[in-house]
Amino acid sequence: MPFRFEIEARDDKARAGRLFTPHGEVQTPVFMPVGTVATVKGVPQDTLEELGVQILLNNTYHLYLRPGVEMIRQLGGVQKFMSWEHPILTDSGGFQVFSLSDLRKVTEEGVTFRSHLDGSSHFFSPESAIAAQIGLGADIIMAFDECTEHPAEYARTQASMEMTLRWAARSKKYFEEHKQEVPWFSRGLKSPVENPHGVLRQGEVQTQALFGIVQGGMFPDLRRESAQRTVELDFSGYAIGGLSVGEPRPMTHEMVDAAIRFLPEDKPRYLMGVGTPEEIVHYVAQGVDMMDCVLPTRAARHGLLFTSEGRITIKNARYAGDDSPLDPNCGCKVCARYSRAYLRHLYASNELLAQVLNTIHNLAYYLDTMRRMREKILARTSATRT
Ligand SMILES: [Zn+2]
Repeated sequence: MPFRFEIEARDDKARAGRLFTPHGEVQTPVFMPVGTVATVKGVPQDTLEELGVQILLNNTYHLYLRPGVEMIRQLGGVQKFMSWEHPILTDSGGFQVFSLSDLRKVTEEGVTFRSHLDGSSHFFSPESAIAAQIGLGADIIMAFDECTEHPAEYARTQASMEMTLRWAARSKKYFEEHKQEVPWFSRGLKSPVENPHGVLRQGEVQTQALFGIVQGGMFPDLRRESAQRTVELDFSGYAIGGLSVGEPRPMTHEMVDAAIRFLPEDKPRYLMGVGTPEEIVHYVAQGVDMMDCVLPTRAARHGLLFTSEGRITIKNARYAGDDSPLDPNCGCKVCARYSRAYLRHLYASNELLAQVLNTIHNLAYYLDTMRRMREKILARTSATRT
């Protein structure tokens, strides 16, 4: 399998590593900006490259509804479609089905749901969710799971976890039987010469990597069991899902801890949908390698900015005459060029540029936070060696 994960350094439970994917290398720990419908809202791809974004997350549910999987497949896969020839991860669609679609009906076979766009009826099963993700062609794809609602009783959570395990096995079986149908593979990227990003040895074929998802609600013993039994199914990486669904933060920490200790050391660990800058630091220290969250981009569009001096609500009148940079310790192009007064003016005037500039800064802040964590882990390890 061409997908590989190598750990370069450790600092207690934290790890610095490298993921090798068909569309390039990712240095971990990594923050993955959310590009829901194949765009990080308001930010062009060249700017994402300048920011040092290594891997994006796209939502299968949204792309399945519009423009459709078959369209993206015909256009060569989602990387080519959005002109982002770098790694991409797609979620399975499960979380959006559970959070966006009303009138959903869950059975052992799968989930019937209504499109939030036009009310049309659709069906996702583990098999069809994996088929959609193979058609989109992201480098890393996710098993189809049921995101257990919160709060939920023990028996309900356990039954949901059991179904997610059966769905994980079905996801893997379908993936193994169909993985060579990925659009960029069928376009003929078969050798290292044809694939400049590749890490293939002669004769190897490129396929996506499939990750399993740990569920188990807010019960530590179910988290542990879900982790152990998902690992038995043998995936390329493991995600912890079903968190940040309204539970108090200490409970999130406890559930991550309950699951992560049963995930294998040598596989990447992905905590889904988390979190604030303080939380991503915490979870890197707990041994998480990958995180995604809508918070930096969504908060930016609402004028909430993360800085080294704390959070700033840019609409506040106190910034109207403030000619200092948004964050004096940030190296991003927004902080290098524009004042708080100007950003406040753009936001108050409801200008499009406000959303663009705010998003660029917040992403820079998250990416810098991850880079600093990675450097710290690498430095700590080299200091121990000498
Ligand atoms: Zn900045």
